[in-house]
Order: sequence, then structure tokens, then C-alpha cells
Amino acid sequence: MINKELLKEYTDIFGITVDETVIDRFDKYAEALVETNKHLNLTAITDPDGVTVKHFADSLSVMSVCKPEKGSHLLDVGTGAGFPGSVLLMANPDINMTLIDSTQKKLRFISETLDSIGLYAETVHMRAEEAGQLPEYRESFDTVTARAVANLRELSEYCLPFVKIGGTFIAMKSVKTDEEISEAEKAITLLGGKIEKIHSFELGDAGERTLIIIKKISHTPSKYPRPSAKIAKQPIK
Ligand code: SAM
Repeated sequence: MINKELLKEYTDIFGITVDETVIDRFDKYAEALVETNKHLNLTAITDPDGVTVKHFADSLSVMSVCKPEKGSHLLDVGTGAGFPGSVLLMANPDINMTLIDSTQKKLRFISETLDSIGLYAETVHMRAEEAGQLPEYRESFDTVTARAVANLRELSEYCLPFVKIGGTFIAMKSVKTDEEISEAEKAITLLGGKIEKIHSFELGDAGERTLIIIKKISHTPSKYPRPSAKIAKQPIK
């Protein structure tokens, strides 16, 4: 299922290596994704090259800017079918991974599939803005990722409350982001973050991708994240 040569082109660009064991895990996960997708809507991308590049290589791009350390705790917000969270865990099985999504069925697919390849991730069936107010999750993660979940301003309110001081939030974006970033700047500062780096690259035919790397430099005020209706109706300006 995974196109190994194609994947290698990208891992070379990202400056990372994934060994045969990891590729074998990817292969099993990709097979399960496409098989399960026949009866459960997990992804619109099911062709081998598309899955290889748009799901697996794209997820691995996070490692070009942040290589997860052994024993560190990562959280993927709005993980869907496990992108980028499951891929990062399969490539770094010595990290602790938590995956949050508001859709239970997708989390069940992830748990069962990771279990079948001998890995474990904590799955949390909750909205991010609810989990972010719970003491067990708040400011508890070294790295938080999110791909295709919300615009950066809302996403920062979902994600920054989870990040420890000194930790990193990585927002994965596929569209040109200048305007989105300037709209989000005030919220990022208020929530305790500071944009450290903006890294753009070409994901082959899939087009441009941008990773926005935000450092957590101060505590998030306790009123954030607010309930979802407030986040949507009264964005931080
Ligand atoms: N990150 C995955 C990817 O890139 O393939 C999934 C992207 S999908 C477009 C967005 C996912 O975010 C959905 O699975 C949805 O259930 C989840 N989601 C959206 N808002 C959320 C929230 N506030 N809290 C938790 N999950 C959320």
C-alpha cells in the first residue's frame, strides 16, 4: 500500500529516516484505513500514492521541525483517522501519544489499528475546548499538533492551553497563511504563545504546506479555552 520509494523522497527532504519496521507499521495502518473506509467515512484519499504523500509524508513533515524526544508527551487535536498523531507514534514508538477527537468512531478505528500493530495511544473522545479545561490535560504536553481542524485563531484557543511552558504547538496548514497568521497573532500572545518559526515547503503535486511553530512562553489565562459557541462567535481580537 505505502509507496516506499515515494515516501523516501519526502523523508530525504525532511532530513529524517524511517526504517523497514516503521514502514511495515505504516503499511498495515494504511491497509486498515482503506479497508475500514469502505464502511466508515475516514478519508477521501484512498489511492496508494495519495495516502503515502498526503497522509503519511505530510504527517512526518512535523519531524523536520520537531523531532519528538523519547518519553515526551505529544497530543494531536482533531486527529480524525490519526493524522498526524498515529504516524508520529508509529515513527517514534518511545513517545507517549494522546489523540483527541469529537468523533468516537474514528478513535475506535485508531485504537484497534494501533493495537493490531502492537502500539498504544491514549484516545480522548471529547471536544478540545472541554478537555483543555481539565487539570489532567491542561499545560501537560510537550508538543501539540493539529492538521485541518480550524483557522489558526480558533485553533490556538483549542491547542495552546494543552502545551506546557517551554513546549511547542505545531499548526499544519495547507493554504497560504499570511492573513490567517496576522488575524491570530493577538490570540496567540494572549494564550501564552509566541510564533517561533514559519516553515513552508512543497508537498509535491499536493502543493504548498506550512508548519507554524508556536512556543509556549507563559501560562494560558484560566478563562481559555472558552465554550465552543463563544470561540466561534467572539474570536479573540
Ligand atoms: N487531523 C485529521 C487529518 O488531517 O486527517 C482530521 C482532519 S478532519 C478535517 C477534522 C477533525 O477534527 C474531525 O475528525 C473532527 O471530528 C475533529 N474536530 C473538529 N473540531 C474539534 C474540536 N473542537 N475538538 C475535537 N475534535 C474536533
